[in-house]
Amino acid sequence: MTMEAPSSAPAHLPPGLSPRARALTPAWAVPPDRCPGCLLKRDACLCAALPTLPTRTRVVILRHFKEVKRPSNSGRLAALALPNCEVLDYGAPDGPPIAPSLGDSPGILLFPDGPPAPLPPPGAEPPPRLVILDATWPQARKMLGRVPALARMPRLSLDPAVAPPAARRLRQPRRPQDLSTIEAIAHALALLEGNDTVARALLALFERFVDASGPRRADIAFGRNAPARP
Ligand SMILES: [Zn+2]
Repeated sequence: MTMEAPSSAPAHLPPGLSPRARALTPAWAVPPDRCPGCLLKRDACLCAALPTLPTRTRVVILRHFKEVKRPSNSGRLAALALPNCEVLDYGAPDGPPIAPSLGDSPGILLFPDGPPAPLPPPGAEPPPRLVILDATWPQARKMLGRVPALARMPRLSLDPAVAPPAARRLRQPRRPQDLSTIEAIAHALALLEGNDTVARALLALFERFVDASGPRRADIAFGRNAPARP
């Protein structure tokens, strides 16, 4: 997807919502009682309090199209807080091919399997791009098999000892150490950029997001769609 504002924004857009926030979630994916920016209930909207977190690394979120309308999707939240981030949608029936958007510039794929990429030494420049698959596990495996540019990328996996999941979650994890998208991005950026300032801010934002999501968490209740995170 591109980050331009869609031509048909929902009628209930808050006046302060940025074009970038609008573009992250198309109008068709926003229920009337939800904020079109963060997709939380409108009375729990976090948009006005979102941090702006600059990074040297460009974060590329490859989002499965089924994630677009899910309020528990935390990749959207990360994208709202990270100016150096883009979201590419994958798998929509009428969507463009994803490979040209990924290009050939150097990057690293956050994924638990495969050859690990060497981390930059302290003080070194991080890889220019961090790619993360925002999808369920089965979807992520299919994406990897269908997009050769992804399969060729060096991979980063996170050690659960240094990247533990939050105590509270919005989805039932496949394994206890599995992370939400925003948590995985946070921990990966801490490793790649050599400091945890952005990571701590992202993790704090996720905590607020869980709080604001309320006690009814259908994804956990029904045990479906565990996120595809290392
Ligand atoms: Zn909002």
